[in-house]
Amino acid sequence: MEKSEKTALVTGASRGIGRAIALTLGQAGYAVAVNYAGSEAAAEAVKNEIIAAGGKAFTLQGDVSDPEDVKHMFEKIKEGFGFLDVLVNNAGITRDSLLIRMKESSWDEVIATNLKGNFLVLKAAAAMMIRRKKGSVINISSVVGLTGNAGQVNYAAAKAGVIGMTKAAAKELASRGIRVNAVAPGFVHTEMTEVLSEKVKEGATAQIPLGKFGETEDIANAAAFLASDEARYITGQTLHVDGGMAM
Ligand code: NAP
Repeated sequence: MEKSEKTALVTGASRGIGRAIALTLGQAGYAVAVNYAGSEAAAEAVKNEIIAAGGKAFTLQGDVSDPEDVKHMFEKIKEGFGFLDVLVNNAGITRDSLLIRMKESSWDEVIATNLKGNFLVLKAAAAMMIRRKKGSVINISSVVGLTGNAGQVNYAAAKAGVIGMTKAAAKELASRGIRVNAVAPGFVHTEMTEVLSEKVKEGATAQIPLGKFGETEDIANAAAFLASDEARYITGQTLHVDGGMAM
């Protein structure tokens, strides 16, 4: 791949919010590594859309919760890009159930992908960014990490953990020229929220001051801002993009 001036890795970029972030960064001139776990065709489509719009991209398979996969992903990034300017830690899953019915496996899977996965990718990216004393990391948390949500103790714990990790990493990496921020989306129209019952969707909408679910582009615009030099004096922050749910 021809070397680019600006590069970005977006995890979980085959669908939903990650897809929108990858497309937005592609439009902003970043060469994008489009990570996915299993949806190869969808990731290829995202890559092709970026290229069709005049950008650069390649697909990057890898389970963010698997240290060997993450190692392999960063070997490919080194090969394809040589360096990394922006990491968007977006990959995430839900395994909802009420606390007393929650299986240990549901806890483990969500913590492994949403928290440990974030850590593994952040660690590998930071090692790469430190060499150039430059970088911006955006971790995708959730409003649920701030407010809690019945049926999601695993998810809320992981997403609150992401905010703590963001602040600690921001303090460690600031002197190396690396900014680390989080975006906490509210309810956004994606496959993740499509599965919610109409009753739950109505209940959620009633808690949103702006009165509707967000769109993936709303999160992508916030992530692109935090990635950019326009946010050069912002680090360790969590930007709420939730229609006013958590104030
Ligand atoms: P989504 O539509 O379900 O897409 C999830 C993405 O993550 C897919 O690209 C999926 O890849 C990838 N992924 C899942 N497990 C992975 C793993 N182990 N390794 C690598 N990639 C993996 O989800 P979404 O709604 O866009 O959510 C994106 C992020 O925003 C998540 O962190 C989520 O918690 C957060 N968020 C979402 C909402 C919302 O309302 N939608 C609200 C707050 C926060 P494959 O397609 O290959 O499986």
